Amino acid sequence: MRVAIIGAGVVGLATAHALLDRGHEVVLIEPGAKQGRPTDGNAGWIAHTDVMPLASPKAWRNLPRWLMDPLGPLTIRPGYLPHLAPWLARFLMASSPSRIKASIGAIRSINAESLPAWKSLLSSLDLNGHLRENGILSVWRHQGDFLRSQDIIEHQRSFGIEAKALRPEELAELEPALRNVEAAVLYPDACHVSDPAVLAADLLRLALERGVVLVAAHASRIKMQDGAIHVHTDGSGPAVAADHIVIAAGIWSRALAAQLGDRIPLDTERGYNATYPKGTFGIGRPIMFEGEGFVTTPLDTGDRVGGAVEFAGLEAPPNHSRTDAMVQRLTRFLPHLQSEPAAKQWMGFRPSIPDSLPVIGPAGRDRRVIYAFGHGHYGLTQAAITAQMVAGMLEGQSGPVDGSPFSAQRF
Ligand SMILES: Cc1cc2nc3c(=O)[nH]c(=O)nc-3n(C[C@H](O)[C@H](O)[C@H](O)COP(=O)(O)OP(=O)(O)OC[C@H]3O[C@@H](n4cnc5c(N)ncnc54)[C@H](O)[C@@H]3O)c2cc1C
Repeated sequence: MRVAIIGAGVVGLATAHALLDRGHEVVLIEPGAKQGRPTDGNAGWIAHTDVMPLASPKAWRNLPRWLMDPLGPLTIRPGYLPHLAPWLARFLMASSPSRIKASIGAIRSINAESLPAWKSLLSSLDLNGHLRENGILSVWRHQGDFLRSQDIIEHQRSFGIEAKALRPEELAELEPALRNVEAAVLYPDACHVSDPAVLAADLLRLALERGVVLVAAHASRIKMQDGAIHVHTDGSGPAVAADHIVIAAGIWSRALAAQLGDRIPLDTERGYNATYPKGTFGIGRPIMFEGEGFVTTPLDTGDRVGGAVEFAGLEAPPNHSRTDAMVQRLTRFLPHLQSEPAAKQWMGFRPSIPDSLPVIGPAGRDRRVIYAFGHGHYGLTQAAITAQMVAGMLEGQSGPVDGSPFSAQRF
């Protein structure tokens, strides 16, 4: 079959390889990475040990404190509030105990398969060198907050996820640069990648080497015609005709799905980061600073601190005082950072759905169109397994994960 994939972010690229593996002909439609696409600037975590949706007890616990601080971990720009209201209403609905339970089950079902899917993809392409298996650390500034997080840790353990509480001397041995931490948990099985942008560039290069045709244009219109699907672009070439279409355009997928009659509650949680020269932080593995809204990652290309959630849409310029505030908060934990020179700053657009589950599945009007977007905080983690699910759906086979919680018809 001939399949056109709209969007060559990490999800579209992983999907291209899954389809090539099954012998399909693949056309990638991608105008060139859009400014702020999260594929390039994310934290690089394969966070398959996470099980909580954003609408979790943890978020609600921290929300009042976060919203009081205009540069805190979560902000809504007032002018954006009317636009966001329907998304927020759905977020509220997704916060009921039964919905949270359902989201946790679905997140676990897809995350449990995420790392095996990545390992299989990376080894088939001889890209194993991108994976760093040093575990991930969660740290708490106050013992009381750690104790209040026990329910989440117990939830993870109930799924068989190893979460090892560290004694102070164990933490000091593992991460000697860290200060002002009263509790820490190590997730030995979690991992990260060398650098997400470099990984994406390798996935694209190999896709082209494997015969993928790249149409360097912006997909603007999808039309069903003469038994085929035609994707019109803003390029000078003819429309791309295909048997199937995969829409994997991250936050920009909303408008394309709307053309097919699907009103998806997809909005962007803008995230910020700062990247310092490699080795600046003096850390050996990714660290989640619980309750602070940021993480650090020792990438091969530099040490990155990233996070924050800002609801302000696609058009508003970045507010890097948010990044500065994040770095300032990080210096509590890594005091030596105060004397370091300014880093490279970045802002990107997480494609987020209120229940924290991606949309993976056919369009309402035409099952030949498959959606693969809305991965929010976990698009890197879930890209390879999403690709396998999409490939299974195109062939009418049940994939490794039950697709029903991710259906576009759940809204
Ligand atoms: C600060 C931050 C940290 C993060 N950290 C992590 C992490 O550690 N682990 C993790 O798993 N996830 C993380 N994420 C989330 C993750 O980065 C995203 O979920 C993921 O990158 C989404 O990938 P994507 O391919 O769906 O979308 P994108 O990266 O947005 O790619 C979409 C592609 O579609 C193209 N496109 C758009 N419109 C069109 C069109 N009309 N026609 C053709 N092409 C089009 C764009 O140019 C782009 O290349 C983080 C995100 C942020 C912001």
